[in-house]
Amino acid sequence: MNNYNNIIGGKEVKSKKTFTSFNPFTEQPIAKFQASNIKDVDKAVSAARAGYKKWSKIPAPKRGEILLEIASILKKRKLELAKLESTEMGKILQEGLGDVQEAIDIFEYMAGEGRRLFGHTTPSELKHKACYTVKQPLGVVGIITPWNFPIAIPAWKIAPALICGNGIVFKPSSDTPLCAYKLVKICEEAGVPKGVINFITGSGSEVGTPIIKHKKIDGVSFTGSRSVGEFVTQNAGLKKVGLELGGKNPIIIMDDADLKSALDGVIFASFGTTGQRCTAASRIIVHKNIFKEFEETLIKKVKKLKMGNPLKSSTNIGPLINRAAVEKTHKYTEIGIKEKAKLLCGGSSPDTRGFFYKPTVFTNVKPNMRIAQEEIFGPTTALIKINNIKEAINIANNVDYGLSSSIYTNDLSNAYLFIENTESGLAYVNAPTIGAEVHLPFGGTKNTGNGTREAGIEGIHEFSETKTVYIDYSNKLQKAQGIR
Ligand code: NAD
Repeated sequence: MNNYNNIIGGKEVKSKKTFTSFNPFTEQPIAKFQASNIKDVDKAVSAARAGYKKWSKIPAPKRGEILLEIASILKKRKLELAKLESTEMGKILQEGLGDVQEAIDIFEYMAGEGRRLFGHTTPSELKHKACYTVKQPLGVVGIITPWNFPIAIPAWKIAPALICGNGIVFKPSSDTPLCAYKLVKICEEAGVPKGVINFITGSGSEVGTPIIKHKKIDGVSFTGSRSVGEFVTQNAGLKKVGLELGGKNPIIIMDDADLKSALDGVIFASFGTTGQRCTAASRIIVHKNIFKEFEETLIKKVKKLKMGNPLKSSTNIGPLINRAAVEKTHKYTEIGIKEKAKLLCGGSSPDTRGFFYKPTVFTNVKPNMRIAQEEIFGPTTALIKINNIKEAINIANNVDYGLSSSIYTNDLSNAYLFIENTESGLAYVNAPTIGAEVHLPFGGTKNTGNGTREAGIEGIHEFSETKTVYIDYSNKLQKAQGIR
């Protein structure tokens, strides 16, 4: 089994202890990684500071050329990396390919930002005075990521952080460190100077917390669970914080919807990535007129989904990330049954090796039940019956989260009522809750985050400061606000 090191200041560095990453399908170990500590974090921060000083002086369009090179290497190695995702994280190969493609897309998009990084100009209230703004790097940023998009999520953060000129301390999830290591090596190979990206593995408490609290880190970009997100805001002090947290995403299906496409959308959004997407649909809010038909057809389709080896093209559903995820999903099955929701299918693990859980559908679900309120992050979805669009939107909004929401309808008023009133950062019409594109902002309202957005132009805001510039060429003291 290979032993992987931290990468600090461009050098491979060991810590005192190691941990092991596992294949969730075979349950076998994959590789060993450094179980780093606060001292390693300090070293990584110093190296990132030195890296930032060099990197931020390289003109942004030149930085962009290196980002394009990263995209180009990712393209060449797309299949190899997707297979690694299937092996280390368990997502099916098609989704692994999509994950790597998202990384390619964001590096290409952010490479282009190197030739923009737009500030704005505006007239002064005084004569002979120019005013404009410029974007500047934050300095050193801490990047902490989950395991469910093991290459795309790090890329969504590393690409804008790099184009803005920051130095980086990157801590990936301990469930998918190998995918993250490969991405960092590709960045180095593409020409990112040594010390700009510092890769450090280890637990949330030993490595993540010191990053969040570190006095010499200027910004933290965190994607993960709501509870850790809250911990981040409480402990980051005054540094800039970007948070992308959980979801409890609804799909509304009205009686005028195209049922076939709605069913396909529900299957993809509820069971794709084995339900382990922040945008997974876990509440299906269906109009009473079509409820029975929808429920019956859905169950037929769900029963045909094939669980198995994520590398096999015939597999629809891969394993969950680890044993704890299986236990958590099952705990919610028991909660659902206790709450008197009706279990239509699934509800247990198959009798096979691997961290599998059968695709699970509950019906007769009431909006305030825990299975309709809390993020399960497994292949479990809940059917809720509604009478009209207003009730549907109220129920859709009746959760703490606000990441993604969707409606299937062919009625323009239903669609617009939904768009206007849904309390979520992403709103889809006649498409499922998943399917983000990198040139649009991504993020949520309410307890899904703190209002920052990733990707698109807003991804730049998270990793930069605005400097406002005034140039007075009047050769005399001029005072704003009319002061004489
Ligand atoms: P998690 O919160 O357990 O871990 C995320 C990262 O934080 C990991 O690297 C972990 O090691 C680190 N961490 C854990 N405790 C920490 C601490 N005390 N201090 C600092 N760092 C700490 O989440 P997870 O299980 O890896 O990911 C699943 C969650 O991520 C789900 O809630 C999902 O909805 C969310 N997610 C959100 C988005 C989004 O864009 N909104 C995308 C993907 C996943």
